[in-house]
Order: sequence, then structure tokens, then C-alpha cells
Amino acid sequence: MAARVLQVDPVAPAPAVIAEAAAVLRAGGLVAFPTETVYGLGGNAIDDAAVARIFAAKGRDPSDPVIVHLADRRDLGDLVRELPAPAQLLAARFWPGPLTLVLPRAERVPPRVSAGLPTVAVRVPSHPVARALIAAAGVPVAAPSANLFGRTSPTTAAHVLADLGDRIDVVLDGGPTPAGVESTVVAFEGEEVVVLRPGATPVEELSRCLAEAGFRPPRLVERGPQAGSPGLLARHYAPRVPLVLLRGPERERLQWLRAALAARPDRRIGLLLSDEELRALSPLAPEHRARPLGPRSHPEVAARRLFAAMRELEAEGVELIYATDPDPAGLGLAVADRLRRAAEEVVEVGRTQEGS
Ligand code: AMP
Ligand code: MG
Repeated sequence: MAARVLQVDPVAPAPAVIAEAAAVLRAGGLVAFPTETVYGLGGNAIDDAAVARIFAAKGRDPSDPVIVHLADRRDLGDLVRELPAPAQLLAARFWPGPLTLVLPRAERVPPRVSAGLPTVAVRVPSHPVARALIAAAGVPVAAPSANLFGRTSPTTAAHVLADLGDRIDVVLDGGPTPAGVESTVVAFEGEEVVVLRPGATPVEELSRCLAEAGFRPPRLVERGPQAGSPGLLARHYAPRVPLVLLRGPERERLQWLRAALAARPDRRIGLLLSDEELRALSPLAPEHRARPLGPRSHPEVAARRLFAAMRELEAEGVELIYATDPDPAGLGLAVADRLRRAAEEVVEVGRTQEGS
């Protein structure tokens, strides 16, 4: 069965279209919709069968919990048992927006949502379509990214259809998503805030907000198979072709790339690089396919383009993708995280004698 695609204005969604999609959610169906991060695959979070359908459609492992989306911060009381002081502060400051809070789960939330954990991840999205849909449905909406498990997150309705077109009921097509990377996920250990996943809310902004209220800056967890949060696999968000991630000083990265490209002028190689890097490497051989990720000083451009660029390079039939590590400031931290997890190989170039 093919999904119904409903076009929707991303700024002022038509109430009739939203009502149609909301009715599908209330009836236990699955609706993909744009958020300010990426497209989500929504189901009624308090309907266990609907949640099971989300996992089945994505092929998502039952040990990987999903995020519950609310229309309003005031609806939080029904879903969580307590709200630590820093969580209250962050919710007031960053919601609606791309910040997910992991909090003690209330009885009402089916354990399946949380992969059986005593906590539940919650956020209030800011995208007008997401807000209107959740409000019209009148239920909390569980929504992981609307991609097949292990694939890159969808930033357009076409990406959703490519992965899930025959597995879900409705896709609300509201155009490309503004941020392009998933939400920042934080948990709480006493008064300490722990960043489980860097994302569309910069960690610097969390730090500033917490500092103003006298809380310590958030701690970043290193991720890997043993990470403190389930589902945060070391390799994930991967394109279907091998991606090689270069880390190290700019000059050495460019030298390495120049040599690698010169050695294979007739191989179809994809390049996910900053505007500056692509300029420095041009002209490229005709078989080399570039996807500019914007100026290095503006990682939010890279965030917006990253996942679509990976899918486009795949579609162009590249056999290999080279990417470079962005500076980890602002959204650069989230982009660096996604690239690392997409990478089959990380190459360190130009290491200094001290091994930095
Ligand atoms: P997404 O695929 O964007 O919905 O990402 C959901 C991610 O949020 C999961 O893979 C986890 O890493 C994280 N998450 C969700 N719920 C929890 C939870 N209860 N505890 C810790 N991390 C969570
Ligand atoms: Mg996902």
C-alpha cells in the first residue's frame, strides 16, 4: 500500500490537511511529517500497537527508544514523573525547539516507547506543521526519524518515500527541513546535565542558559557501542557507500585529498567538503562529484545539507565519499558526530610529533 502524500504549507499549514493526517494518527496509523530537525515518523505514543508499527516500519531495533513529541510544554505532566530543576529551565528556554529531554517515565507511556527504560525522551517541536499536527491529534506523538533503520535521516518528503513509501499511511510534504540534523538529546543526573547526542540546539547555548541560572555546564558523553544511551551506535546514519572521514589540520587534509584524487581521476568519487576546500581542489576531474557544504565558518549550512548530499551522491553512483571533520563549534559538533558515525574509516592526517 502506497503512502498518501499531502502537500502542506510549512509556515501556515491548511487546517483541513492537518485534520486528515491527525485522524490517521488517532486511528493508530503512521504519519511522516516535517519538524525543524528532520522528518519524523509519527504514531500515537500512548497506543502501544501504533508504537509497535513505528518500529516495524523502520526496522528499528526494539532496544532503541523513540522520542515523544508534544504540542505544548504544559502536556509534559502526563508523561513524566518528575522534572529536575535544570530540565524545567531548559524546557522553558528551548521549547518549542530541537532539544530533547530524557526524564522519568510516567505509567501512561507504554514501555515500548522507551525500550523498557524507566525514562522517556520528550520534546516540543517548533515546526508549524509538527505543532499543528500534534495539537490536532490531541495525543502525544512518538516519532523517530522517518528513515529505514541505519540509513541517513530524511530531510525531504522524497527521502521518506524512498525509504518508507510502502510502509506508512501518510506523508505530509512541507518541503525541506530547516536544521537538517536531529535534536540535541540531554539527560539529568542529579543537577548535572548530560548531552547524550549533540544536535540542532548548540551545546554552547545550553551551557550559557545553565550558567546564567548557576548550574554547571553540560557534560558530553563519548559515544560508541557502550554509550550511556541505547541506540547510539558507533556507526549509524550511514550512506550505502563507504565514507572516509579526514581529520587534522586543513593544509594536510587538502594535501591528502589532492593526492588521493589525482591517483583516481577516472573513479567516481564523492566529495562532501566546505566551499573553501572545494575551491582549493578545483578544477575537479569530471568523474569526481562534489557536494559543497557551505563555508567552514557556517556549520549550520553543512547541517542542513549533509543528509541530502549523502543521498544525492549515492544516487549518482559514487563508489566512495571523502569528507572532512568540521570545527566542533555550534552545529559543527552535530555535523562532526554524524560524519563520524557515517564513516567506515577515519583517517588522521598531519599528526604533530606530540600526537595531538
Ligand atoms: P531518533 O531516531 O531521532 O528518534 O532518536 C532517538 C534517540 O534518542 C535514541 O536513539 C536514543 O539515543 C535517544 N533516546 C530516546 N529515548 C531515550 C531514553 N529514554 N534514554 C536515553 N536516550 C534516549
Ligand atoms: Mg533516527
